[in-house]
Amino acid sequence: MPAPLPTLRAKRKRRKAQRNKQARKWRRTGLAGHGRLAKKAAAAVRKLKRLVKRAKLALRIDWNGHTPVGGKNLRKVIRYALANFDVYITSTNGGTHSTTSYHYRNQAVDIGSNSAAEKVRCQKALLKKFGPGMFAELFGPDNGAWVKDGSQYTARDGDALETQHDDHIHAAVTS
Ligand SMILES: [Zn+2]
Repeated sequence: MPAPLPTLRAKRKRRKAQRNKQARKWRRTGLAGHGRLAKKAAAAVRKLKRLVKRAKLALRIDWNGHTPVGGKNLRKVIRYALANFDVYITSTNGGTHSTTSYHYRNQAVDIGSNSAAEKVRCQKALLKKFGPGMFAELFGPDNGAWVKDGSQYTARDGDALETQHDDHIHAAVTS
């Protein structure tokens, strides 16, 4: 066989060149496509992370410098108050309370506001939102929205306990 090699070699070379060309094209189109998908996926992940961060921030309680207290339900009450009213925490387990107070069991929080009307609004809303059964104690400036051991009652104006809660909401939740 005279000189078949150059032809074969030329054929192989041409095929190889074609394969390379095709590979380059796939790399351009195929990988470029994957790149776009990857970018989209990364953007989606970033967006999700932002949403999670925002949700975590919303869940975070501004304890206003006080020691965090409470089980899940007390925290639910606190979160609702802080998220919906112009109020802030004024005490948790520190400060001065009666010796048997829920405060010292990490089950109570005091809530204040610069606005007296806002405190009343918040107290009423807490009772409406969660119901008396939620609270071991709910005291505050609205005498009609008091709760002791899950039962709503009207505080008698001028009572010592009533007078102590003219300027803040006290909420005790044992769960
Ligand atoms: Zn209190």
